[in-house]
Amino acid sequence: MTRVTSRDAATGFGRFFLPGPTEVRPEILAAQARPMIGHRGTAIQELIARVEPGLQRVFGTARPVYISSSSATGLMEAAIRSCSRKRVLALVNGAFSERFRAIAESNGREVDAVEVPWGNGHPPELLEEALGRASYDAVTVVHSETSTGALNPVADLAQVVHGYEDTLLLVDSVTGVGGTRMEADRWRLDFVLTGSQKALALPPGLAFGVAQESALRRAETIPDRGTYFDILAFEAGLAKQQTPNTPAVSLLYALEAQLERIDKETITWRCERHREMAERVWHWVEAMADRGIGLSMLAPDGYRSPTVSCIRLPEGRTGPEITTKLRERGFTIAPGYGKLKDSTIRIGHMGDHTIQELDELLDQLEGALTE
Ligand SMILES: *Cc1c(COP(=O)(O)O)cnc(C)c1O
Repeated sequence: MTRVTSRDAATGFGRFFLPGPTEVRPEILAAQARPMIGHRGTAIQELIARVEPGLQRVFGTARPVYISSSSATGLMEAAIRSCSRKRVLALVNGAFSERFRAIAESNGREVDAVEVPWGNGHPPELLEEALGRASYDAVTVVHSETSTGALNPVADLAQVVHGYEDTLLLVDSVTGVGGTRMEADRWRLDFVLTGSQKALALPPGLAFGVAQESALRRAETIPDRGTYFDILAFEAGLAKQQTPNTPAVSLLYALEAQLERIDKETITWRCERHREMAERVWHWVEAMADRGIGLSMLAPDGYRSPTVSCIRLPEGRTGPEITTKLRERGFTIAPGYGKLKDSTIRIGHMGDHTIQELDELLDQLEGALTE
């Protein structure tokens, strides 16, 4: 039933389209199978020195890139604990931005939120209004909302925040970095983080973050930053090409191999490939709708993520039903997230997937929707 190319037959790659964890290439998985090294010797320092330039390129930064042996949520907590004292403004438009707000609350911060409907992005004007009403230590935002496929205009939001001297912008770019343009320095994002298992197409277990000087100066004024996710500890560690605690060494081997692949493709072309895959999905959704199969993109044009597409289903079809049918055809995608579980499906077209693999997926999805 499934069209299989010879490359697919050799590796089995190209059928797993969850919006995280994403499919990891066999050679990247294999790179993990190397002997351990000590985490305080020259071997680890050399390994970290080898991965830092590649990480800096995907983040668009000249700052050191922190490597945390945790999932991305760990660095979301780091952002809150190290960069906010008392009051936080959360930009909420989906489940992960909701999580950012909840992390601020569970760490004892007073939190106000600007909420727009799930699927929408945050226009800079609403942020401007909110910052005019009260003063905040920090604003949280999710670059690419994996639960809805919405992309927030982070560079524009940053410009608004820069009008307020004591307010820092904390950016979750977990499905952004490695799949869409990120300019941490040029856009002056005070703190930006990602995880290994999304657009970087690595196994889960590492998170990466970049703090500007503004974030470090803020952290110095906060005595109770905790231990494991203290950004000053990451900063001090990297000054010696080390991590504060034992890193997930095997994952660092995979990271080194994957950064080499990314550099070969170049980050510009990698982002271009993601944009093309997203546009392919949008056009396919339109074509299906023209044929009377009532699909539509949840996020409006201009606010759509290049890495995740969230598609509304016709009346009477559900996310779990479609994902089960598709699995029988050999492909994996996700139903909607949380309250969108039944009414939508989500395709993670990120990491190392190609247009050809996506086309095969869409063929099968069409089959599942029309069978
Ligand atoms: C996956 C994801 C997270 C959470 O990452 P974990 O690695 O599971 O902690 C946070 N934010 C966004 C936008 C995500 O897609």
